[in-house]
Amino acid sequence: MGELNLEMLRKEFGEVGGEHVVAVDDIDIDIADGEFLILVGPSGCGKSTTLRCIAGLEQPTSGEIVLNGEPVTQRKPKDRNMAMVFQNYALYPHMTARENMAFGLRMTTELSNDEIDDRVVNAAEVMDIEDLLDKKPGELSGGQQQRVALGRAIVRDPEVFLMDEPLSNLDAKLRTQMRTELQDLQQELDVTTIYVTHDQTEAMTMGDRIAILNHGELQQIGTPAECYQEPENQFVAGFIGSPSMNFFDVELHDGTLSTDDFQVHVSKEIDDELTGAGSEFVMGIRPEEILSKEDVDGEDGFTVEINVVEPLGDVTYLYTEIAGNEATISVDRNTEIEPGDEIQISFPQSEIHVFDPNSGDSLITRGAPPNGEPANEVDAGAERTEA
Ligand code: ATP
Repeated sequence: MGELNLEMLRKEFGEVGGEHVVAVDDIDIDIADGEFLILVGPSGCGKSTTLRCIAGLEQPTSGEIVLNGEPVTQRKPKDRNMAMVFQNYALYPHMTARENMAFGLRMTTELSNDEIDDRVVNAAEVMDIEDLLDKKPGELSGGQQQRVALGRAIVRDPEVFLMDEPLSNLDAKLRTQMRTELQDLQQELDVTTIYVTHDQTEAMTMGDRIAILNHGELQQIGTPAECYQEPENQFVAGFIGSPSMNFFDVELHDGTLSTDDFQVHVSKEIDDELTGAGSEFVMGIRPEEILSKEDVDGEDGFTVEINVVEPLGDVTYLYTEIAGNEATISVDRNTEIEPGDEIQISFPQSEIHVFDPNSGDSLITRGAPPNGEPANEVDAGAERTEA
């Protein structure tokens, strides 16, 4: 069992360089037993501090950490039954892998040597590192060291795994491999896991849900598909998804969102929703939702000049400037477009997002008010998860 609740968790660091640092700003998160939760956000948003508070390595300024219904906020790290895996592996260099994995158990439990040996061997099997057990960290590659570090967490048989960017020191190929392995491992062990990353791909692919932080505040928590398709504000819309969503300052007049370069005729529903909120908005559209060339029909098509073409193999990105902003368009890999070409594009009304320019709150999500039915029902329904 590893149900974890963060209740109004707050961590202030006091004055640093003349600024009062609030690293974690009254965060409420409920994590279900066995859930894989990803904490994601830009550098300095408070991810690691949140994790360190949960582990007991930082004392929160206020709020409560509750494990299986019991507050653990005042407990020492070793008494929380959680195991943390760090980015830099944090292995003792003078100990073998076996000793590294056994050390925590020897220090914090009453287990006999035989019991500890059994656990180490079992964890080594799970991590496929049996033949590395008698080597010291200096004799191991980065990937192997991280396996030992994970093995060390597994032997503890914890109720919660806390992982702070555990794959970021590995090269790209190994990271991809370990990403899949970690997902399998988490499912097999069924241990509640909180995983900190700033990596888009890890955030979108590894967890059951993602919690997005900015400036210490929780911006949104939901499945990857929810956060991608139904971002609650402009920050989430811009942060989740790579390349990022395109944004434009637009004005609403007579059922049309427009800039000097383009216009998007909107439905009566969108018009009614926005009219009450003013006349200036931020419109967003994802690169892959922009229609180009022969897809374009109707009155809202317009011409842009492509500045850069970036073929990635599976997909090609086109870079252009629209209404004074850099914009990215994602097209089929077989495109024959070249830099300097002019192409026709349009923004389908069913895919636009509209945000309040002051608060950043989402007003229209994929062509509909946030709680309404998405205009593009077939797509949205397929990936939508019941709340
Ligand atoms: P990164 O991805 O760069 O590791 P992060 O999202 O994990 O960033 P934290 O390390 O949690 O962010 O830091 C959050 C904020 O708290 C930052 O402004 C950071 O400078 C500040 N901070 C973190 N630790 C301390 C400390 N011990 N003393 C003072 N300020 C700190």
